[in-house]
Amino acid sequence: MAFIVQKYGGTSVGNPERIRNVARRVADSKKEGHKIVVVVSAMSGVTDGLIKLAREVNPDATAREMDVLLATGEQQTIALTALALHGIGVPAVSLTGAQAGIVTDKMHTKAKIANITPRKVHEHLDAGQVVVVAGFQGQNPDGSITTLGRGGSDLTAIAMAAALKADLCEIYTDVDGVYTADPRIVPHAKKIQELSYDEMLELASLGAKVMQARSVEFAKKFKVKFVVRSSFNHNPGTIITEEHSDMEDVVIRGVSLDKNQAKVTIIGVPDKPGVAAGLFGALAEAGTNVDMIVQNVSLEGTTDMTFTIARDDLRTAKKVIEAQVAAIGAKSYTAKDGISKLSVVGIGMRSHTGVAATLFAALAGAGINIQVVTTSEIKISVIVNEDEGPRATQVVHDAFKLGA
Ligand code: ASP
Ligand code: MG
Repeated sequence: MAFIVQKYGGTSVGNPERIRNVARRVADSKKEGHKIVVVVSAMSGVTDGLIKLAREVNPDATAREMDVLLATGEQQTIALTALALHGIGVPAVSLTGAQAGIVTDKMHTKAKIANITPRKVHEHLDAGQVVVVAGFQGQNPDGSITTLGRGGSDLTAIAMAAALKADLCEIYTDVDGVYTADPRIVPHAKKIQELSYDEMLELASLGAKVMQARSVEFAKKFKVKFVVRSSFNHNPGTIITEEHSDMEDVVIRGVSLDKNQAKVTIIGVPDKPGVAAGLFGALAEAGTNVDMIVQNVSLEGTTDMTFTIARDDLRTAKKVIEAQVAAIGAKSYTAKDGISKLSVVGIGMRSHTGVAATLFAALAGAGINIQVVTTSEIKISVIVNEDEGPRATQVVHDAFKLGA
């Protein structure tokens, strides 16, 4: 017998038939002798619909009331899932986040989990019931309802698994797992059997579509083993777990492509202490996350500095950059979207040589220009033109022989 937390996302509970399908899957797991806690999201489209509704009533809706409203999405699904389980003779009970003992901080709409006291969950489990917990929500110490940020049901599931000391957390979604590349770009991409937490985090553009990054970080911190798999078939999925030595045998685990990128170059930056601190300090204050940073050698006392940010942040960042260019006495700046970041990821990189050479040769062979390069211990990223991103992904994926 294993203790399993199963999380079903919005598409997996998207209509009554799918909710009944979830109930059958839960019933099967229970029949196999496992102890089951189910975490569900709102039915697909419901959260977006509620946000739209609130805006129509008041475009400046307060965060506290948004949380009261948004939490109703998951509250519908827990009741419906429990009812579906009753319908096939499985004893089940629904619990809101607060009832399940999830306490958060006070940051409405993006609250962090502070602690979980799952006393009620244990009571119901001990009584032989399946416990269906609302994802994405908790309550703050004042007793107000909070939500955990978009995609937050993943976090509920991982955190519940940690608090309950479950053996496994199963994240059910509408894809079969994490692939060596986006299968829409590389049709012969393969499903990855096993990944380390760090690889999952670095494969952001592949991973983020199936799972919220914050919940992967949480899983890493509390060593929660989880599997990402589809609720529409019985394929085994991708296991994400602690690193072990066999994992390094594979040089590259996958290739990800992130289109949400913009590149900024500041030209004629005076080469003296404090300049970078001022510029990046101002960007951080404006809430802009800077990703890659490259500084050239200086010629005649000035240098050029290039960095990348999320494309969505470019508009706000531009105002900060313009002010900083003036403040630090730089000559000018250029800002460019229409670029993509391609990354090859794998912990095997630490013990294998020639990864960068293979990557660069593949891109060169395809006539694709590299604009910026950065490396970390388990990742090499390059910036290429957006329109060359898909082809770059294909040639790199082939060069590392990742396909089926
Ligand atoms: N229903 C919430 C959302 O759409 C939480 C979740 O689905 O994980 O963001
Ligand atoms: Mg979701």
